[in-house]
Amino acid sequence: LTLDNVFNFSAGPAALPKPVMKQAQADFIDWNGLGTSVMEISHRSKEFIQVADESEQDLRDLLNIPDNYKVLFCQGGARAQFAAVPLNLLGDATKATYIDAGYWAESAVTEASKYCEIDVFNAKTSVDGKAAVVPAKDWKIDPEAAYVHFCPNETIDGIEISELPQTDKPIVADMSSNILSRKIDVSQYGVIYAGAQKNIGPAGICIAIVRDDLLELANDVLPSILNYKVLAEKDSMFNTPPTYAWYLSGLVFKWLKAQGGVEAMELVNKEKAALLYHAIDSSAFYKNDVHTANRSRMNVPFQLAKPELDAKFLELADAAGLKSLKGHRAVGGMRASLYNAMSLEGVQALVSFMKDFEEKYA
Ligand code: PLP
Repeated sequence: LTLDNVFNFSAGPAALPKPVMKQAQADFIDWNGLGTSVMEISHRSKEFIQVADESEQDLRDLLNIPDNYKVLFCQGGARAQFAAVPLNLLGDATKATYIDAGYWAESAVTEASKYCEIDVFNAKTSVDGKAAVVPAKDWKIDPEAAYVHFCPNETIDGIEISELPQTDKPIVADMSSNILSRKIDVSQYGVIYAGAQKNIGPAGICIAIVRDDLLELANDVLPSILNYKVLAEKDSMFNTPPTYAWYLSGLVFKWLKAQGGVEAMELVNKEKAALLYHAIDSSAFYKNDVHTANRSRMNVPFQLAKPELDAKFLELADAAGLKSLKGHRAVGGMRASLYNAMSLEGVQALVSFMKDFEEKYA
């Protein structure tokens, strides 16, 4: 097995695009002919500031981020944002509405409940015996809520929501597992945040895209490192940023642009997901329990008709170079994550392995 024929289906930390890994390997030892690793240069040096500026501009280009939004490179992962969001956005309000469609939305509620009253709208439902999400037009939003939080892609449940809350309140979205995988209109959101270690690549960075008018609401006791205004004023360098993860994110943004940007990625992502769901649906041996309207393009949980074969499936898949297919411990079974870095070729290899396995063991 080599870098070129191993496919990593991990939900996170996910694989980087292979050309990015190759470039990083060279830069690790000698970056731009400086004779030092990219990891060793000062975050205040003109060389690194160029990396930071370019990465921000590339992300702005990819998502078409309007000028009245700040792009922040934060630390503490998406879970830090679970606290940062209420602390930054509540202002004088004491309530926020959270739409619950799965595990990560619920985790965000648990954290935010420490800081304010949370009005939870349970959007989980079932259609034809499959897990589904209540249509956004029926989501009830508290009139006193400071903002509405939702998670458009539930990484564990394998549920994706393509609608937006219908509200004039700031919309906050945890896009950790689907940022840059499909087109979005940033101007519809108050805050978008996303841990980088899925659709971007390296753990250690969390992107927050924050509308300017929301920077003024931060609570006084808010730790400076979580304060969007402080981070914006300091160009995300209030403390030493994770420079290596930032540099790698920048390489991924350049790679995405070279692929044709988010529009091109969305087309491939649709094709990859359709291929895998078709393989699951056309077999009696595999199943996925999510209603077609809410199936995630990024995270595809599936079960075998004979769960006693799970270990065998995983062992043989791993030996064939199809890595990290074990489902989340809360769900069991399998999960294939099809982030941007997963090629169509990787999904074809998985589908062909699944057919062979079914023929041998079903
Ligand atoms: N939100 C979503 C949708 C996730 O998938 C995850 C991680 O898997 C998190 C939040 C937590 O991210 P982090 O580990 O960066 O705090």
